[in-house]
Amino acid sequence: MMTYDGGNAGLQVADAPRPLIDPFGRRIDYLRVSVTDRCDFRCVYCMPEAMTFLPKAEVLSLEEIDQLASAFVRRGTRKLRLTGGEPLVRRGIIELVRSLGRHLKSGDLDELTLTSNGSQLPRFAADLFDAGVRRINISLDTLDAAKFAEITRWGQLPKVLDGIAAAKAAGLHVKLNMVALSGVNDTEIEAMLEFAGANGHDLVLIETMPLGEIGVDRVDHYLPLSRVRAALEQRFTLIDLPDSTGGPARYVRIAETGQRLGFITPLTHNFCESCNRVRLTATGQLYMCLGQDDVADLRAVVRGRGDLDAALDEAIGRKPKGHDFVIDRRAAAPAVRRHMSVTGG
Ligand code: SAM
Ligand code: SF4
Repeated sequence: MMTYDGGNAGLQVADAPRPLIDPFGRRIDYLRVSVTDRCDFRCVYCMPEAMTFLPKAEVLSLEEIDQLASAFVRRGTRKLRLTGGEPLVRRGIIELVRSLGRHLKSGDLDELTLTSNGSQLPRFAADLFDAGVRRINISLDTLDAAKFAEITRWGQLPKVLDGIAAAKAAGLHVKLNMVALSGVNDTEIEAMLEFAGANGHDLVLIETMPLGEIGVDRVDHYLPLSRVRAALEQRFTLIDLPDSTGGPARYVRIAETGQRLGFITPLTHNFCESCNRVRLTATGQLYMCLGQDDVADLRAVVRGRGDLDAALDEAIGRKPKGHDFVIDRRAAAPAVRRHMSVTGG
């Protein structure tokens, strides 16, 4: 795969990179890139079973993704996360990861990471480590095979457990993402904590977010994590940890086991004030906020050979203060129409 360095290597020495700062003074140094909206699973909270995917011609080539991500790196992005859809079903993904890995080697990037459903990790975990990836988020909502098949529709738990084991064996630090669903996996949180603890993985619980039509009512399974925390506090002592990851998760340490547990609570505890990230879709649309519709078309800039730097300034200048998520019976429609697999979780 060809890589792209902007053709101005000489200028970079003279011009220190201008950081991207939004109108609220937040420094944007984290880019999430959805490399494909396609997926080999159909998780019930994420997409309908008969999901319509984007036409391939609209999707960025790997070179275009590299070009855009590298433009962000030149403007101070320190952390890149590849996501989707399922990033590991995109053909050529390892070449892209290898190519982006050059920014780790040069010291321009602190971290290159992925969010994955784990199904392809037996095949790719070692390659990811070789390319410079050190941590990976893997989604795992249950340890019950039948329930796993129900939640993911097309997924198989043993394959994903193999993927998680392969990631660990390759030397990747694993963070498990568990979407908390009332009446589905709310009784399994302690079992997941045990599994994570026994294998040296972190566990992060996530509230369902109202993104895209999924053909069922999210209210039925929405579980506020404040309730989960209160239930855990009946059994354990939870010690709040200082915010160290720069991400939306708030961590506690469980005194009895020494484990860390994260909570991502976009609905019960809004974390927008410290937001440092933007999201690029597989078609090159830059969303300045996961929960808002405003978008900047960077594909048009790349394909039209326009001024990417100016486009980034203009886009970040429009980053909104925060989202307006709410899940209740009165607000039945999703906050935004696009699915999580489009914007990238
Ligand atoms: N396919 C990969 C995976 O599942 O990890 C990466 C993309 S997926 C969209 C990223 C994360 O978003 C997953 O942890 C998934 O559970 C979560 N997710 C998807 N839809 C969601 C929703 N409506 N609310 C909250 N989390 C969601
Ligand atoms: Fe695919 Fe991830 Fe969405 Fe599940 S959550 S359908 S694995 S993109």
